[in-house]
Amino acid sequence: MTDFADMLQGYRRFRNTGWSEQRERWDELNEGQSPGVMVIACSDSRVDPAQIFDTSPGEIFVVRNVAALVPPFETTPGLHGVSAALEFAVQVLGVGEIVVMGHGKCGGCKAALSHDLKDAPPGEGGFVHNWISLLDGAREVVIDRHGDDRSREVERAMEQEGVKVSLANLRSFPCVRTKEKAGTLKLVGAFFAISDGQLHLLDEETGVFSPA
Ligand SMILES: [Zn+2]
Repeated sequence: MTDFADMLQGYRRFRNTGWSEQRERWDELNEGQSPGVMVIACSDSRVDPAQIFDTSPGEIFVVRNVAALVPPFETTPGLHGVSAALEFAVQVLGVGEIVVMGHGKCGGCKAALSHDLKDAPPGEGGFVHNWISLLDGAREVVIDRHGDDRSREVERAMEQEGVKVSLANLRSFPCVRTKEKAGTLKLVGAFFAISDGQLHLLDEETGVFSPA
């Protein structure tokens, strides 16, 4: 397992290669960022968007959280971290695309389906349960369709429904709706299957994810 000492060795490799070889690029980035795409992904250590899409620094603006979720537009008091990042990406950076990427074997989606954490207090699972309650509507859809079955196929259905929830919630933000309608912002639903490393893209007309 990697610890921080290993990571420091990685940092030194980066300084000797990644950074020095691309010195010009870093000088450009020092002036500012202008990523064209925002990616919303899960915090899961296996699904790093920069690695999966083989991007370089400055190319994608990323938010990662449990289960790659976007909350709905809300003006209630609170600390709306995802909404703040979204607002910055859309209104300040002016990204042209937002990709929501769910993934296989997602622990957050699994817990959303099982409701295993429903009685956990904050700090012992309660925060996670509260966050993934964003998926309660999707959970009902999946349970209506599959009953008590908790096979891998059903878990995947939950993971993919989660992407649709985040897309719908993105569209609850006026700035997203307006720009999508104007054709200056495009939303993409994606799903990365860890088992075979295959990226799937959502066809929003049919609701089906197919290999990219
Ligand atoms: Zn996950």
